[in-house]
Order: sequence, then C-alpha cells, then structure tokens
Amino acid sequence: MDWTKFPKVELHLHLDCSLSYKVVSQIDPSITHKQYLADFISPAKSSLVEYLKRAPSNFPLMQTEEHLRLVTMDLFEQLQKDNLLYAEIRFAPLLHTSKGLTPQQVVECVEAATAQAVQDTGVEARLILCTLRYFSTAQSLVTVRLVEDFRGTYVAGFDIAADRPGNVFDDHLPAFQYAHNKGIPCTAHSGEARGSGNVWDTVHLFAPSRMGHGVPCLDRPELVELIRKKRIHLEVCPTSNIQTNTFDTYADHPIDELYRLGVSVGVNTDSRTISNVTMSEEYEKLHRTFGWGSEEFYNCNRNALDAAFISEDERERLMAQLTEGYQQVI
Ligand SMILES: [Zn+2]
Repeated sequence: MDWTKFPKVELHLHLDCSLSYKVVSQIDPSITHKQYLADFISPAKSSLVEYLKRAPSNFPLMQTEEHLRLVTMDLFEQLQKDNLLYAEIRFAPLLHTSKGLTPQQVVECVEAATAQAVQDTGVEARLILCTLRYFSTAQSLVTVRLVEDFRGTYVAGFDIAADRPGNVFDDHLPAFQYAHNKGIPCTAHSGEARGSGNVWDTVHLFAPSRMGHGVPCLDRPELVELIRKKRIHLEVCPTSNIQTNTFDTYADHPIDELYRLGVSVGVNTDSRTISNVTMSEEYEKLHRTFGWGSEEFYNCNRNALDAAFISEDERERLMAQLTEGYQQVI
C-alpha cells in the first residue's frame, strides 16, 4: 500500500529536529552526509539521552532570519511530499538567540515563513512555542507570553519539552497557570522515558488538553480512564518511543491497545530527522505490526483534528477535506 496518498494530520513535530540534509548542507556546506547521519539522526535503539543529544546539532544552523526561513520552508517541502493536510510545528524560540535575534524576532520570522509556506505548499499549519524542562521559571514565562503576544497569527499553543534530572514540574507551574488564565491551548511532553507517574503528574499539575507521548499509562487503569474521560488527546510517536527505549519493540508499543480502549490517539513522527521517519513510513510500520488500515488512520486523523489548536470553522473545513481525501484513496 502506498500510504503517501492518504491525507494526514500531524500534531507533534519539532522544527529544530527535522532538518533535511539538503538544507543542512545549504546552510553549512562543511557538514558531510556521513556526519549528518551520525550527528543528526538517532540510532534505531538508544535512550532519551542519546536521542536528545542530536537536537543541539541543529541549533547553530537556526540562528539567523534567513536560516530560520530556510529550515521552515524545508520542513514544509517534506510535509508536502508526505501528503500532510495539517501540521502543528513546535520549537523553542529562546534557543535561537545566540547570534543576536530577540525571541520576538525569532517567532516573527518563523511565523512569516510559515504563512508563506502554507500558501506555497497547501499544507495548513499552526505553530506551538515550547519551553524546556531545563529552563527557569522566567524563561518559561517569556515563552508563554510570546504565545499571547502572537495570538491571532499562526502561533497557536504552548508546550514543554526536553529533559533534566529531578523535578520537572515546579519551575513551570506559573507558565501553565498563565496559559490557562489567558485561554492559551496547551500540550505537554509526558512519560517519555519517565513512566506513568510522570503522565499522572502532568495531567494533574499542567492540565493540558493534549500530551506529547503520554503512552506509558497502561499499568495504571485509573490513569487510562482519566485520560479517556477527559478526552486528553495523546500525540503518539511510536518510532521515537522505540528509539528512546520507552518500549522494547514496535510490537510492544501500546498505541494499538490505547486506540482499542477508546483513548484519543494520533500518529506523529516527533521529528523527521532524529526519528528518521516520515508519516507514510510510520503508517507502514503500524500496518505491518498491528494490521492498521484506512479505518484506523482515518480515525486517528479525526482525533488529531478534534484536538488541533484551530478555530471551529477551520476544523470543520479540514475535517471535510480529510473525509474527501480518504474517499478518494480507499
Ligand atoms: Zn517531542
């Protein structure tokens, strides 16, 4: 089956971990393909530490307005080839200020490039601004205030990503509180390599409407029930979870069981480069491992659109496009 033909919705996608070799070599021609494979792509099996080690390879290539524009356009080209109907792209503005751009300028630049790329490629999109678990309270607040400042543009939501040892909640509670007070849509990374305790705490402390990953929860039935009842959407990234050793093999991944239990799950790559996977390839893996076909993918895309950070009009429009697209390919 050629899964490329199926229209897709992806909500969990990191801009700064999705640079193709084409754009990497365009920005820094000294980086060889061999180096790109080693430094930008995670091994098929490693750990969250190893996975996250690849991210900083991208940061020096994303420090000027021109380079931010190039990597944004590059990602949209990849999304167009993968037949994305709608994507939410996330990045941490504070990671792109080492050559003098202000966080405001970083967001302005990626937002403008997104507007242009949506027009050029026909892939609808929104942006999510990330704070990072190792950031301070002040840095998290700067990030969430940027979401508020850019309200009404392609910037649509707030997230927390990355990792650090110890408590990953206390420093960021004020930012999530701010987001909730202002009605800013929130997602939050949870459970990747930290288990169901972290998922439980994320639901209770950050109260996001979606979670990035959130999949290690089957050992606590009351948690699964809570996620299901609250309709918290899980942005599931199977290949990424296998790479980081959250689950041993693809067949051990709980996406199928969660789907069957009625949890709102969607399919995502996490990152195109570090995960070294496209959505079409992820669909093929799900098809081979769990026998998923058009019905499961259609439902997952509907789940994702239901949880997307967009207006009701836009949701309706994309839902109709999704249905029409599926009617054409099945
Ligand atoms: Zn992620």
